[in-house]
Amino acid sequence: MALHSGTAKAKDYLKAAQSAVVLTGAGISAESGVPVFRGKEGLWNNYRPEELATPEAFMRDPELVWSWYNMRREKLESIEPNDAHGALATLEESLDDFTLITQNVDGLHRKAGSRNILELHGNIWKVRCTGCGKIERNCDIPIDIPPYCDKCGKILRPHIVWFGEMLDPEIFGNADAAVRKCDILIVIGTSGVVQPAASMARTAKDAGAYVVEINPQVTPISDAADLSLRGKATEIVSIISLFDTEV
Ligand code: NAD
Ligand code: ZN
Repeated sequence: MALHSGTAKAKDYLKAAQSAVVLTGAGISAESGVPVFRGKEGLWNNYRPEELATPEAFMRDPELVWSWYNMRREKLESIEPNDAHGALATLEESLDDFTLITQNVDGLHRKAGSRNILELHGNIWKVRCTGCGKIERNCDIPIDIPPYCDKCGKILRPHIVWFGEMLDPEIFGNADAAVRKCDILIVIGTSGVVQPAASMARTAKDAGAYVVEINPQVTPISDAADLSLRGKATEIVSIISLFDTEV
């Protein structure tokens, strides 16, 4: 299908939708310069993210894990949201019922102006106490290694859902409810390998939603999508944005 007719169709569905959900993954931040995990650039000092972003790795060597997060914080500090993040923030303004579900931890959606965001995997700019559970925003670069809780003295960890950990049930419940009741789900830049985000496209479709995928590559989500737009997030999201229909 020609890209143009596809984007026109997606835009029509969006315009008619009572309720819209967008699910984003690392691909939407790739054009801002944030590396995706499953590419060659996902390596750090010969470690793979799967070896560092785990509770076991943190118990074994918290300083190593925090060094990796410090490196990621340093890189993110100078990174700005791109046109795709911006177009989603604008889209939220023009729709009554809009939910943005993201697997990203980089905080770029909020920086771009999105408000109704469900961060499935946490946020790299937050820390959580391993003792008392207190969650705090912390934008130190670099963060002291290892950081300690000022309330109970226990070690702080990144407020991130690591491999093998459960999602926050409240955040997941809200995301699942939004996916089940939406008229359109747009999935952008996720490889569809990580659950449960990977199954959200199927859930939405089974509940009757129109599912659009935006990704330069075919993914396991492509099968469930009514429309697959093969291309970069910045190009396509800007085209399907409803902004120009509002004037
Ligand atoms: P992934 O790395 O597994 O896959 C990225 C996907 O984005 C691929 O399918 C790729 O084809 C696509 N992509 C690449 N460039 C794109 C572009 N310009 N426009 C649209 N799509 C593009 O990412 P994932 O599925 O989100 O899973 C990775 C996990 O790692 C997530 O759980 C996430 O929490 C974490 N992660 C987060 C960040 C971040 O916060 N920016 C970065 C890397 C990984
Ligand atoms: Zn504490």
